[in-house]
Amino acid sequence: MQDQEKIITATNLTNCDKEPIHIIGHIQPHGALVVIDMKSYAVVNYSENLSSFLQTDNLSSFHSLSDLFPDDFIIQLKKELEANIILSTYTFEKGRENFLLIPHLSDDKVIIDVEKQEDKLPSFTFQQQLNNILSQIEKTTSLKETSQIATQLIKNIFGYNRVMLYRFDKDWNGEVIAETKDENLETWLGLRYPASDIPKPAREIFLKQGVRIISDVYYKPSPILSLDNSNLQPPINLTNSELRGVSPIHIEYLKNMKVNASLTTSIIVNGKLWGLITCHHYKAKTVDYFQRQSCKFLTQVFANQINLLDTKKYVSSSKQLETLRKKLMLQMQSVSKFKEALLNYQPNLKDFIDCGGVALVRKNKINVLGGTPLKKEIEILIREHLAKQKKSIYFTESLSSHFASAEAYTKTASGILAISLDANFKDFIIWFRPEIITTIEWGGNPEKNGYVKDGVTYLHPRKSFEKWSEKVAGSSKVWENSEIEAAAKLQENINTVLVKKQKEKIKLLNNKLKRVNKELETFSYSVSHDLRAPLRGIDGYARILKEHLNLEDDDYSTHALETIISSSKKMDVLIDDILSYSKIGRQDIRRIPVDLNAVVFEIINSSNLKINYPQTQIKAEKNLPKVFADSRMVTQVCANLITNAIKYSQNQKEPFVEIGYKEESKAYFVKDNGIGIDEKYIDKIFNVFTRLASADYEGSGIGLAIVKKSIDLHEGKIWVETKLNEGTTFFFNFGNA
Ligand code: ADP
Repeated sequence: MQDQEKIITATNLTNCDKEPIHIIGHIQPHGALVVIDMKSYAVVNYSENLSSFLQTDNLSSFHSLSDLFPDDFIIQLKKELEANIILSTYTFEKGRENFLLIPHLSDDKVIIDVEKQEDKLPSFTFQQQLNNILSQIEKTTSLKETSQIATQLIKNIFGYNRVMLYRFDKDWNGEVIAETKDENLETWLGLRYPASDIPKPAREIFLKQGVRIISDVYYKPSPILSLDNSNLQPPINLTNSELRGVSPIHIEYLKNMKVNASLTTSIIVNGKLWGLITCHHYKAKTVDYFQRQSCKFLTQVFANQINLLDTKKYVSSSKQLETLRKKLMLQMQSVSKFKEALLNYQPNLKDFIDCGGVALVRKNKINVLGGTPLKKEIEILIREHLAKQKKSIYFTESLSSHFASAEAYTKTASGILAISLDANFKDFIIWFRPEIITTIEWGGNPEKNGYVKDGVTYLHPRKSFEKWSEKVAGSSKVWENSEIEAAAKLQENINTVLVKKQKEKIKLLNNKLKRVNKELETFSYSVSHDLRAPLRGIDGYARILKEHLNLEDDDYSTHALETIISSSKKMDVLIDDILSYSKIGRQDIRRIPVDLNAVVFEIINSSNLKINYPQTQIKAEKNLPKVFADSRMVTQVCANLITNAIKYSQNQKEPFVEIGYKEESKAYFVKDNGIGIDEKYIDKIFNVFTRLASADYEGSGIGLAIVKKSIDLHEGKIWVETKLNEGTTFFFNFGNA
């Protein structure tokens, strides 16, 4: 008892979920325990009751296993340990008793549980019983029926006073969903027990071990002693020992319930603890190891049946949802307006998922069907809650506990299931579920009472298990997995339809743009072409007039004729530029390796430049890398940029132009120390007919447009760094090809 008290005082309310029940330090006395070292096979620990349990007096001087158990067992154990396989049980007779040895691993030790064994049921009778049970369970069609049969069968076989099937909810509270009991006992069916009744460490052991027996809550604990009395070793981990002592808190709990003995098995579905089958007896009671194994096995059979029924329910609900989803899809494909397709036909979004109402929120417009919060409230719900979650699917059964403003509309929307329709979490479909006010019958007030000593609150389990009703509001029916998955699939479908519609729209616009561009190019080409002939005429006749008329004394007429000639020359250049601009769009690019050194050399050595700009110093890097691009366009780009650089730096004191390649930016550059470009207009310079410089600098405003178009066709890049009155550098490349 001293030990138990120690543990009680070490456990307070805040750490009750951490109670170290696996190293409790004692066992229940319906068995005895021996611990050996896995390497030396030497006995290191034993339970105090070992000698009395084995009915041997001279146990004071044992050292090895052979002092305790038959040699055959030791040979079997060694073999299995070496082969690293599951350790088998071993039965032997001593006096008039049958003993059972149950070895198992615990860290670097082997624990051997020693239990007494009742007479075995003849295997034929056992098999018959089993067949009978299996066929009864297989016939059940609902969870209620399976659970009921499970408790009945277990009560019949093992003879406890009460057998309950206990199901955990998502917060680990348990509910008794089936019960078979002696007639004189009051029913606990439908009662709930708070999660703290079976705290986390106990749940973890249940998941691992599967079966737990408490033979007598008034048992005298048998402490685990060490052979050398040193007590220096770390405590023995008893997780897998079915003799493990019981948490004092749990003992007190059972005593408060007036229960003397219990047997509990775990219902494990898909690797998770789904529930428990708990047997209570109002006198001390034990069942032997093999019976407990049978109980564990039967519970697993129930678990499989529960899983099967769950899967069947899931499959049938999924099928139904799938049919509705396909119909909605068809509507989306055949009705052009998305909103109408989802709301105006049968089935609509509200028919799709079982709900009170639904909202479709798209492009700042809210459309609703059925019972929903006000549109204003939906808008706030999205802005202040859903958008912040940043989840493509969000669901809850009690919205107001996550978002306080939702308290105003718990009646219509205690539960929501929302799918987002855009990356910015502004567009949503939200299904709303109304509040269901439920009364929960707790087995006693779930608030455990504690007492405070030295500033620490110590845990005491509940004393009363009288029905304690609690009204639960603000919650809706649970969203089933099949519904959440169906909503996710619908979301995928909607996104595909929306993207497809958007693509079609863009394609249509693109085609229109291409057509207009083509028309414009054709138009400018033919206009420029058609203007050429009359321009030649004007230029030719002006020259004839100038030669044939003697106008030496007539300055006015001479000036007029010269203006006609120079204007038609300018016009000719302009037509040339427009023609080459419109030609670019009409031809495909033909990439070949182009030697830029040769291209630049030709441009800067053309007689035209040398004559017109004799002051300008031009420096071209020697080893410009080759470019894989359309040779004519490369020449056009370089010519335009170099002539611009020379043109716009001609009036500087020492005009200077440099052509080179910048490795870090993977770009060629043309740099000058000319007039620079006002930052404000940088965006504009690549447009046709944009001229920023004064009339002192000749030009048509088309050069850079040609450059940009050529580079765009190559999927290359062009950018500019410039400072007014200091100079300009154009960087460019022709893409990665
Ligand atoms: P333009 O025939 O007028 O030179 P561009 O299309 O080649 O036409 O250039 C558009 C405008 O960009 C020019 O009018 C000029 O204002 C500006 N610009 C282009 N290159 C330079 C440069 N290297 N230095 C300063 N301004 C420039």
